[in-house]
Amino acid sequence: MLRCYDCHKQMHKKPSDRNPRSRNGRPWKHVFCNRICYATWRAKRHRKFKRDRHHFFRQIWGTTPLRRAHPKNARAVGRRAEIQARNLILPALGFTEIDDLSAMSNQFFIDFVATFRGKRVLVDATIKMTAHVPEKTALAKALQMPLFILHVSPKNPALYFLQRAAWDRRTMKVPSAFIRKAENQAI
Ligand SMILES: [Zn+2]
Repeated sequence: MLRCYDCHKQMHKKPSDRNPRSRNGRPWKHVFCNRICYATWRAKRHRKFKRDRHHFFRQIWGTTPLRRAHPKNARAVGRRAEIQARNLILPALGFTEIDDLSAMSNQFFIDFVATFRGKRVLVDATIKMTAHVPEKTALAKALQMPLFILHVSPKNPALYFLQRAAWDRRTMKVPSAFIRKAENQAI
């Protein structure tokens, strides 16, 4: 007896109800009452896929579990990443004359001004995989200065990703391919 793969209601399908795209008459893998059950199942599957992927990325990249409860804690973790960026990561990537604005005052919303390939540039370090940066790109545009976003893993500071932010960007993301590669290399 066939059952709908989503709502599990019993179904009566005729032998002719086969996948029309299959030349050998291979039966459907799953059957559904109707398009609504099918759409529901697909949406659920997609949500699960997204959730699993999110969980996987979090495992590799790390997270600050106290972020919401204790903003001060998150700031401390963020500041640790900034210091790591200033002392080790940015110099290793070729940035020099790094002015640590963040150390001067928490009023600045860009962490560093530095020299990169002979030019003064803005650099922001974040522990987020996805950073919302509309104000930062607006400032960079107003100053006509390049802006770089440096994502530093809060779990493992040896895991980081630098990218230039175009002036019209609002969001910057660590690419999924980078995270997958990081997992394979087991950094
Ligand atoms: Zn159904």
